[in-house]
Amino acid sequence: MPPRPELTEAQPGPSRTLAHMPDPITRTRARGKPRLHKLRRGRDRCGARCRDGHLCEAPAIKGGLRCLRHGGGSPQAQIAAQHRVLQLALYTAAREWEAARDTWRADCAMGRWSVAERELRAYEAKLAYLAELRAEVRQLKAGAASDAGRVAR
Ligand SMILES: [Zn+2]
Repeated sequence: MPPRPELTEAQPGPSRTLAHMPDPITRTRARGKPRLHKLRRGRDRCGARCRDGHLCEAPAIKGGLRCLRHGGGSPQAQIAAQHRVLQLALYTAAREWEAARDTWRADCAMGRWSVAERELRAYEAKLAYLAELRAEVRQLKAGAASDAGRVAR
């Protein structure tokens, strides 16, 4: 098993300026995923089609574009939604810091930015760990399958 990464690693302050930060909004748009700029306006409506053809329009899960009945409750949708919520929080915090720069609010905004960044990094570390574990499981399964093949022959 790969060693579990240190998730509580303290990071001193925002490590980059807004200019260097990959914009999560364009980043997700480029990948064709649900768009963060839509999530900004609060919860979306579910865009799935019901059997009779009309849009579902139930409130979507936080950070996603589908309701609980239309796949929003699945583990992968929940994970992606949480990731998007954290990306948006970091983006918002960075924007707020830019706005508050050189005012008495700058320190507070900086604190919120670094908290948001730490949370997003921790979550991404978890996702990376999860991907490693999945890869390992896939390898083990492939190994087991080839062993079984050898026995059968
Ligand atoms: Zn729905």
